This record gives sequence, C-alpha cells and structure tokens, in this order.
Amino acid sequence: RQHIGKIKTGCIEFNEMMGGGIESQSITEIYGEFGSGKTQVAHQLAVNVQLSAEQGGLDGSVIIIDTENTFRPDRIQQMVEGKANELGIELDYEEFLKNIHVARAFNSNHQILLVDSAMDLANELKDSDKPVRLLIVDSLTAHFRAEYIGRGTLADRQQKLNKHLHGLQRFANLNNAAVLVTNQVMSKPDAFFGDPTKPIGGHILGHTATFRLYIRKSKGDKRIVKLVDSPNLPEGEAVLSVTRDGIVD
Ligand code: ADP
Ligand code: MG
Repeated sequence: RQHIGKIKTGCIEFNEMMGGGIESQSITEIYGEFGSGKTQVAHQLAVNVQLSAEQGGLDGSVIIIDTENTFRPDRIQQMVEGKANELGIELDYEEFLKNIHVARAFNSNHQILLVDSAMDLANELKDSDKPVRLLIVDSLTAHFRAEYIGRGTLADRQQKLNKHLHGLQRFANLNNAAVLVTNQVMSKPDAFFGDPTKPIGGHILGHTATFRLYIRKSKGDKRIVKLVDSPNLPEGEAVLSVTRDGIVD
C-alpha cells in the first residue's frame, strides 16, 4: 500500500479539519446548494495538486469529468496568480492548464465510460513528472438526477451510481489519487424531482464516499464547510472564503 497523499485546500481551518488535506486513495464528496462553492473548491484542488509537497500539493496532474460545463480556464488563471502571490514565486498558469485534462460528459453512461478513459490516461502518465493524482467529477449526480425521474427508476439509478463509485474508488487506489465528487442539493423540496433536499445517492454514497463535506453560504464571500462523515476524523466545521485568488482562510 502506497503512502497516502494530501492536497491542501488553501484554507488552514479546512486543512486541519481534514487531517491535513484532501486524501489520496479516497473519494471525497462535497455537497451543497447551487452557488455554494463546490466548483470553486474543485478548481482550487486542480491547481493545488500540481504544487510540490512543500507547497501543499502532490506534484501531480488532474483529470476533470465536467458534466455541467462549468470548468473555466480563466478561473484557473486567477487562482494560479493568487497562489504565486501567496508563495512569493512565479507560476505560469498555462503550465497549470496543460496539466488539467478536462472531459465533458454528455450523459450518465458517457460519464461512467470516461472513468475508463481516465484510467488509460493515468496509465500513460504514470511514469511522467506529473502523474495523475486527482480525479474530479463535477457533478457526480446531475446527469443521474435528470435521467432517472420518479420512484420506479430509483433502484436502477442507485445501482448505476454505485457501480460508478466503485470505478472511482478503483481509480483512487490504483493511481494513489484523490477523487473529488460534487453533489448538488436543493434548499426546498421539489415536487417534480422527488426529494432533492437530500443529496442523491443518499445511502449508497454515504457508505462509499470516504469523506463527506457539506458546504453552505455564509456572510459575503464566506462559506462554512462541515465534515459530516469520515472514517477516522471527528466531525467539524471550517470557515473559508471564496475570493478572486481562490479558496483562502
Ligand atoms: P456550485 O456549488 O454551484 O458549484 P460555485 O462553486 O460555482 O457553486 O460557486 C459560485 C460562487 O463562487 C459565486 O456565486 C461566487 O460567490 C464565487 N466565485 C466564483 N468566481 C469567483 C471569482 N472570480 N471571485 C470571487 N468569487 C467567485
Ligand atoms: Mg458547480
């Protein structure tokens, strides 16, 4: 078994709550309402994973399975500039963009197939200077939620999602990579979609995702992130800010 790596988030309190950072060989789920900051955290980790260990990264590259077309290269540029200022060094955002491999997923079947493609790419990069150390699925559940509507299909949806999560766990183990998945929840019950106030995948995701984080808006650019479930860490809360520079204290 390889040494577990940790990717720093940019926020000290958040790192401490996570026992240092987002772990490799595990799936971390971040769930919250629209606009709560899930995609911002994903972008920040895509930058930070590329940094050296001393700088809080894993010297790795990242694969993003983007299901909602929310990946923004401009945002990466801002965060790299923020990181360069923080560390007092020069960083080239174009180098960072080269190590972010983005694949759009057009439906849930495609999304599942892209994990196989991610595995192929990770194998290709295994002995390079930037092995894949992070796989992001943003959003894990949007396609599943849209495609499986109504009670009759819930069991099918869970089964397929479960299989998908096992593929992701396998990716994490074989590549000593962290896996981050996002999951949107809604503030109010919605008659059409069933029970969207609870994260979909509920029970099964609860047992598969090793770390579960709930993120919610607070005052201004502040966000509160709560560790809801972990195999080895106590529950806790951390306050972070989402700024132009990215995720900060
Ligand atoms: P979701 O949880 O739906 O994925 P996002 O991660 O996309 O939400 O968060 C969107 C929020 O992030 C915006 O409402 C804004 O508060 C913040 N944000 C996005 N881009 C920037 C930026 N360049 N500077 C500061 N805050 C930003
Ligand atoms: Mg998002």
